[in-house]
Amino acid sequence: MQALQVTIEAQVNTMATDKPNKLDRVVAEARQAREKREQGYRERALKMYPHICGRCGREFDRSNLHELTVHHRDHNHDNNPPDGSNWELLCLYCHDNEHQRQLEAARGYTSESSNRSAATHNPFADLKAMMDQKKDK
Ligand SMILES: [Zn+2]
Ligand SMILES: [Zn+2]
Repeated sequence: MQALQVTIEAQVNTMATDKPNKLDRVVAEARQAREKREQGYRERALKMYPHICGRCGREFDRSNLHELTVHHRDHNHDNNPPDGSNWELLCLYCHDNEHQRQLEAARGYTSESSNRSAATHNPFADLKAMMDQKKDK
């Protein structure tokens, strides 16, 4: 009886700890890889550009430099050309604003990342076509 109980406990322990640990590790590794990559372009961008927000002109020094962030002009964080042409230094607030504006501009448009169900039925598809036409002329 004693032996059976030990076996069951061992199994329960295995079930409870094995999977989450593995998942945690995978998640942690992915996050570390991303942070490392972000650290890489952030340092390069900070070396390349003056520590000034590109929108509001706020200046930064060592004490508040963590509030200065690297924005990707094309919003693709994997696009990091060595000449820094895709980077813009923005303070936290302006960076937030910048993305908010992009979100609002993209609202109603078919977007792979934000709304998959809208891709099959998109009431704004005609509107988008109209706006695209206007832009061209
Ligand atoms: Zn700013
Ligand atoms: Zn950004």
